[in-house]
Amino acid sequence: METPPHMCQAPRADGRPCTARPLESGYCFAHDPALQEKRRAAYAQGGRNKATVARVQRAMPPTLRPVLDHLYSALEEVHEGTLEPRQASALASLAGAIAKLHEVADLDARLEALTSVLEPERAKALASRRR
Ligand SMILES: [Zn+2]
Repeated sequence: METPPHMCQAPRADGRPCTARPLESGYCFAHDPALQEKRRAAYAQGGRNKATVARVQRAMPPTLRPVLDHLYSALEEVHEGTLEPRQASALASLAGAIAKLHEVADLDARLEALTSVLEPERAKALASRRR
């Protein structure tokens, strides 16, 4: 089957045609074999250098960083057509579940820290009231 000239020549990983606008090579930016190196650099920069991303990574608990890396890779792979969007969705749900567990554990730890400070104060206040 001939690819229409306004569409990228490469098939996506799922076999469907890539509908992205092609460059002069006939491939889109994500599929052009000649641009592989450039693409990798662009994704890496886009993923790591943006201020927001850098801030998120700093604020992220170290145990969640690999999850974030997986999500960035998945984003890239879906864009390139090497990962099924369905699989990426499953990955995102699992990552969300992991993040939620961390959130709960973090809140629990903070609550415990607060309680350990406040509980002796409360005991003191109660004791002085009884006098
Ligand atoms: Zn393409």
